[in-house]
Amino acid sequence: MDAQQMDEQRLRAAAKFVDTWAQSGLASDLIRDYGCTLTCNEANDMAQLFREFGYPEIASVILEDHSKYDEPGDLHYVGE
Ligand SMILES: [Zn+2]
Repeated sequence: MDAQQMDEQRLRAAAKFVDTWAQSGLASDLIRDYGCTLTCNEANDMAQLFREFGYPEIASVILEDHSKYDEPGDLHYVGE
């Protein structure tokens, strides 16, 4: 497999991951349904992935949910 094929395979895997998580609702329910919180970097990277693959609404939900758990001084802290 050459480098371009590897890139294409990675891109397909990432697109499939995003579609599956978007359709199952898991991406936007991680915190609400599973009590799973993300670090600031995890939230940013996950939101970017969904945004780049055509799910800007889910990206917003990820960051909005995440921000509720940030504390003063954290990147996404919005206050009480
Ligand atoms: Zn944060």
